Amino acid sequence: MAEALTVADEPMLFDRLESEPTDALLQLIALAKADPRPDKIDVGVGVYRDAAGGTPILRAVKAAERILVETQETKAYLGSAGDTRFVDLIRPIVFGEKGARDERIVGVQTPGGCGALRLGADLIDKANSDARIFVGQPTWPNHGPLIECAGVEMVKVPYYDTRSRRILFDEMMEALKEARPGDLVLLHGCCHNPTGADLSLDQWREVADFIARRGLVPYVDLAYQGLGNGLEADAQGTRLVVEAAEQALVAQSCDKNFGVYRERTGSLFVKASSKAGAETVFGNLLQLARTMWSMPPDHGAAIVHTILDDPELRADWNAELKEMCARIRSLRARLSAYDERLAFIDRQNGMFSMLPLSRDAVLELRESHGIYMADSGRFNVVGLSDENVDRFAAAVVEKLDG
Ligand code: PMP
Repeated sequence: MAEALTVADEPMLFDRLESEPTDALLQLIALAKADPRPDKIDVGVGVYRDAAGGTPILRAVKAAERILVETQETKAYLGSAGDTRFVDLIRPIVFGEKGARDERIVGVQTPGGCGALRLGADLIDKANSDARIFVGQPTWPNHGPLIECAGVEMVKVPYYDTRSRRILFDEMMEALKEARPGDLVLLHGCCHNPTGADLSLDQWREVADFIARRGLVPYVDLAYQGLGNGLEADAQGTRLVVEAAEQALVAQSCDKNFGVYRERTGSLFVKASSKAGAETVFGNLLQLARTMWSMPPDHGAAIVHTILDDPELRADWNAELKEMCARIRSLRARLSAYDERLAFIDRQNGMFSMLPLSRDAVLELRESHGIYMADSGRFNVVGLSDENVDRFAAAVVEKLDG
């Protein structure tokens, strides 16, 4: 008789899994959708919304897609680095013309900012499994999982206090003294998510100097370039730290500033100590990418490449980006002007800010006003419209913790 191949008491493979909690933000989106109140306000979801409440495809993107349909001749493999022309076009936008010529910086296309962050974390782990990443708190909730999945230890340091509405700069710098040479510091290039609170240029200079003196490696997450104060202004901090540091990483995303979220469009740039070192890094990036996605999806990068290579489309994209940025700034100004306790919002950047609200207050706003925001008090400024911004402000100031 054939021997039984399974042991009856042992659970089968997938029965060993524990259930994972549903993503809180996705749950919030579903709740907001199911709310029948016509005047509900969804400031939970993290995408740009126009005055009509939609997230339309940019004109320049549509035009580029038409060109691609007409002219693209093959879908054959491109390789693990993705669309290299796309990477070359993104380079000066991130690093400026001078920085873009630095041969110590190499880049590859990735599936969005998430892919870039994960690839960077894997590269760090491969280079030195003892290296740690220092991350200011609070931060985007996916930073921890992306870093830790790659096996890199994350060290939390203070960054922002919601109640006093200020960056805890001295506290952060003090905590960073724990970092050893070769450790990394994660920095939001602009439009800090979830707080909207960005370092001033003087603070960036101080961080850059500290990093350089201590042999630390900046790891910049640049997911919202152009949505804070414009493409150039939003890159200043990134350029300062990358120039000052001997080695650095920049995880870049086009998903927000080109509005191509689901196309998963981004890149990872790495600065090594020398041109030869950069070539070694590049080879390692290709090998790591090969084991995860082999090659990044092409369509988003092809769109961006087509836009940036065409002066007219590029100018139109610039105009549309400026429009998005101006709309965010104008909503921030409206909220700030409403009440002194909301004045901090205009000093912050990008789509998000955090309100000092208790969890109960967030729930009450949901139930009695149909206002949907994350339990942390993070809200998407641009989820508001000219019509409901005052109603939103009136409801939240009632409930502020301080
Ligand atoms: N970094 C931050 C701070 C983000 O908010 C996001 C997206 N929400 C990303 C990275 C990832 O962007 P992508 O959608 O391009 O993966």
